[in-house]
Parts: sequence; C-alpha cells; structure tokens
Amino acid sequence: MTIACHHPIQLCQPDAGKSCGACCGLYNWKNHSRAAIEAILVLQTELFAPFQKSEKHFDTYRELRTAGIMNEKLFETIYNCEFIGFIDPERRRVGCMLHPMVTGGHDLRNHCFYGAEICSGHFCPGYSCFSTAQQRSVVQATDDWYIYGLTITDIDLVKEFFKYVEDTIGESIKEKKLNQSAITSVLADFFKLKEHWPFKARENRLGKYYFSAAEYHLARIAYKERWGLPPSRFDKILVSLESELASQEDLRSAEAIIQKFINRFIAAYPVT
Ligand code: SF4
Ligand code: SF4
Repeated sequence: MTIACHHPIQLCQPDAGKSCGACCGLYNWKNHSRAAIEAILVLQTELFAPFQKSEKHFDTYRELRTAGIMNEKLFETIYNCEFIGFIDPERRRVGCMLHPMVTGGHDLRNHCFYGAEICSGHFCPGYSCFSTAQQRSVVQATDDWYIYGLTITDIDLVKEFFKYVEDTIGESIKEKKLNQSAITSVLADFFKLKEHWPFKARENRLGKYYFSAAEYHLARIAYKERWGLPPSRFDKILVSLESELASQEDLRSAEAIIQKFINRFIAAYPVT
C-alpha cells in the first residue's frame, strides 16, 4: 500500500469512504467473499491493536493471528500480509497498520516480508494502465473497500467497458464529463458485478486467474470447443467477472447484461 505518490489520483487511499489493499494479499484467500475478508480484517485489526506500540512482541501477534484465521491461502506464493487491517474508526478504509500515517510517525513496514522500500515503492498497474478518466470512474463510482479493491485492480474489466462505450459513441471518455449522478450510478452498478455476478465461478478464481495446486493460469472460456462459437465480443469482461457459463443461453444472458450497462452509460453520457 502506497500513500504518498505523484500520480494525479491517489488510488491506494483515494478518500475517506474506501481504499485498497489488494497488493498486500487482501483477496488471496480461497474464500474471498466480503464476509470472509472482513472477518480477517477485523481479526487483524483487533488482535494487532494492543501490539502496535511494542515491536518486540510482533511475533506473538503473528502466532495469535495465524491461529485465528479460518481460511486458506488461494495462491501459496503470494504473500498475505498480517499487517493489513481497518485503519479508521468507521472501518471503511483498509490499509497498512505499520504505515507512519497510521502509527503516528514510525515506519514499521520492515517488519513485513516485503519491507518498507518495496511497500512504499509499489504502484500497481492501475496507476500506469488506466487513463485518468478510467481511474476517476472507479474512484467516483465505488464507496466501499471490497468492491473498490477488486475493481481498481481489474484492468480488463474497466478498459474493455470504456473501449465498447468509446467505439460506440466515437470519442474518448472525458474525465470532466463523468461528474454526473446518472453516470456514477451506472458505473456503480456495473462495478458491483465484481461481487454479484450471477455467473460467477464457485471456487479457485480471482478475476481472470484460476488456481490449481501451486500454479495459476489465465482463465479462458472454451467457446469453440463447447459451442462451436467464436469468442464473445465481451470475452475479457466475462473472464474478469470469473464467469462459469453452463450453456449458450447463459452466454447470451451474460452478454445481454453487459450490453445493458454499456447502453445505460451511453444514454447518460453527454456526447459533444
Ligand atoms: S493494488 Fe494498487 S491501488 Fe491497491 S493498494 Fe496496491 S498499489 Fe494501491
Ligand atoms: S507492511 Fe507492506 S504488505 Fe503489509 S500491509 Fe503494510 S504495505 Fe501492505
């Protein structure tokens, strides 16, 4: 988690209503439902509080935390940091409990596996791959940490959505035109698909990746092998949403849902 940065939008901690901790391993659990991740965050936040000022007892914290977690790692070699927790009293923001802005001055991040230099220097692809308008759209349309972290790290979902909209209206989306409630509303509903997609695979998936044993792979939908069809025009979005489609009917229904969001966005966007 990075807090100080020179990018136009601070994606890690954009405002008081939400934040991200994806690169600290927040979602790297077999059960990465909201309830399961929230349980881990609450556990870590509450267990760590009495230890925050006594670095020499961090090992005790680690032991208690390991014993308290009722979940399994999704991908073994990705580090799930034990120091991510809720960093505000309202529990709306997730973040680093060792960061100087949280500890009140001391940077304690060398106690984590990565160390302070890596933690503070890391900027995920959301910083470099998204346009400012795309970053703004995610920040503006999400108001909770769970959806925000899943979306700001999902390059394909956001970029493909924008691509379809831009191809249809014939111009690139402008940041200054996003600030309208109808646009925020359609984007908010679209990003909520990350949690509530009706065709979501049940296990071993996180976004476009699937996990088996100690390996991870890019997931794919076998259009040709299963239905003799070419890939869907929304293939990247369907894969990002962890789709598991049982039939052609499922595929067409899934495409219709995505198209509806694109149509809603276009209807709300003021084309010049
Ligand atoms: S995944 Fe990106 S936005 Fe999220 S905390 Fe890490 S660097 Fe920040
Ligand atoms: S110590 Fe590093 S990896 Fe751990 S929560 Fe803080 S920023 Fe994330």
